[in-house]
Amino acid sequence: MFDKLKKKFSDIFSKSDIPETDKTVASKADYKKEEPEKTIKRDELENTIEETLLEADVSFDATEQIINNLKSNLGKVKRKIDYASVESELKDVIKQIINANNSNAIDILSVEKKPFVILFLGINGTGKTTTIGKMAYYLKNHGQKVVLAAADTFRAGAIDQLNILANNVGVEIIKHDFKSDPASVAFDAIDHARARKLDYVLIDSAGRMHTNKNLLDEMKKIKRVAKPDLTILVLDAMIGQDVIDQANTFSSEISYDAVIVTKLDTDARGGSIISISAGIKKPVIFVGIGQNMEDIIPFNVDWYLNKIFSS
Ligand code: GDP
Repeated sequence: MFDKLKKKFSDIFSKSDIPETDKTVASKADYKKEEPEKTIKRDELENTIEETLLEADVSFDATEQIINNLKSNLGKVKRKIDYASVESELKDVIKQIINANNSNAIDILSVEKKPFVILFLGINGTGKTTTIGKMAYYLKNHGQKVVLAAADTFRAGAIDQLNILANNVGVEIIKHDFKSDPASVAFDAIDHARARKLDYVLIDSAGRMHTNKNLLDEMKKIKRVAKPDLTILVLDAMIGQDVIDQANTFSSEISYDAVIVTKLDTDARGGSIISISAGIKKPVIFVGIGQNMEDIIPFNVDWYLNKIFSS
């Protein structure tokens, strides 16, 4: 996961490593004397970090923001700086960008309103249906009662796919016929959850929104009827910088509150989370890290920083 960013950062910052055997205070001082090249010119380092970020799929805007914040954090006076302090500043800058949107992220398990209704949006192929299965599994494992609403009545096979996931995970599902009104599926699922005192309703939706006005209208209708407590956009880490365009296309038509990023396990570049945080300004609440139902984890910024900076 994130091999590219990790390798680049470790290439840059490992130059400051002191050999394990030399890690005494005295030998550190000796090492510094012998290795004056452990410092680097500011411009050179900033350029290297900028290239690294862009190559790792961090968007241009996010890269600029990081470099500018880094410059102001490091101050203007020092021409040469040591790697270790830059690494620590860089971590802080990336953390600030991610936390700016994530600090008020909802904790799904501690919501009071029941049934808590969650609507999932996303383009076909992003992993939306799998993510709904994973969320059902996650909630069920935390003692919650869940019902799925098969409200993607547009794509042949979508209802069956969700049905299989519901059976595998062991949660209920409300489904109507192929091509039926998706808003009424959502409505029935919420009704069912109220009657049975279930905790969560997870609503699937059709995935080909920006190419089809009818689908878009249907999705808006689901939102009007279901009045979800949380609307989540599912984004695929593998699409790189296009992720911002895709998210903006959605937000111009239908509002959402938070993001789940899928396929991080196959994301060799690693920058998508930074681009999403800087560009979309919505919290990333969970990330998908595999194809199995247990492969979803609440997003944690320290986990992410550890992944991209560990060598
Ligand atoms: P949908 O069209 O958006 O509903 O997408 P699906 O849920 O059908 O998923 C599309 C493909 O992505 C399937 O092969 C999933 O197994 C795969 N997928 C979903 N999430 C992840 C993930 O976090 N990691 C990996 N490696 N694959 C995933």
